[in-house]
Amino acid sequence: MIAENQRLIRVRDTEDELTCIVCPIGCRLHAERKDGGSLEVTGNRCKRGVAYAEEEFRDPRRPVTGTCAVTGGEFFRLPVKSSEAVAVDRIPSFLNAMYELELTAPIQCGEVIATDVAGTGIDLVATMSMRKEE
Ligand code: SF4
Repeated sequence: MIAENQRLIRVRDTEDELTCIVCPIGCRLHAERKDGGSLEVTGNRCKRGVAYAEEEFRDPRRPVTGTCAVTGGEFFRLPVKSSEAVAVDRIPSFLNAMYELELTAPIQCGEVIATDVAGTGIDLVATMSMRKEE
């Protein structure tokens, strides 16, 4: 089990260094929250870096991928992904719910295998088809 208080991904506070992932250049950004609440960003080559840093400070999210247990299939585990990015502070509970699932083959690639995982409103989707064991 993954503890709720385990920091898988650090939630940013008032100042941080980060790498912009919007394009392959990967600018190294420095972002600092000012007293008035605005975020001062330096190191960016374009304004998309500012938007990226603002989102990272306001509501950081990540896509979640993993595998779920399967019974009656050709393999024991099925690769899955979240239908959209999950808020980083909800990822531990999302993963716990994901790892508790026990699926039954057959399963189609793209099939929603769980809805509203851990109350996030985000679904879990199969990324591979799994036939029944012959
Ligand atoms: S700041 Fe602009 S140029 Fe730099 S990595 Fe982000 S999107 Fe690319």
